[in-house]
Amino acid sequence: MIDLTIIPWREAAACLEVRDQVSFFPDKEDMVGIARAKAVCAGCPVADECLSWALETNQTEGIWGGHTAKERRSLRRRWIEEIRKAS
Ligand code: SF4
Repeated sequence: MIDLTIIPWREAAACLEVRDQVSFFPDKEDMVGIARAKAVCAGCPVADECLSWALETNQTEGIWGGHTAKERRSLRRRWIEEIRKAS
């Protein structure tokens, strides 16, 4: 289990307000659940920070920064490629 209390931007996260109503770890077949989580992320003031953190720490489950694990795998490959090119 991730200790979210150590993440500095966590206090501004929109999901904190709805964590009892919306799952951010829906089943990958649950399109309604995924859409509900993404809708919350769309209005989150720290979505960029959340997505960056999820990519940097390679979160393989759940919705982070408005993206599913599958979507993040693609983003992470591109992110790693950009780092390689820059070094
Ligand atoms: S982007 Fe989504 S998962 Fe990330 S902190 Fe905001 S509401 Fe939570």
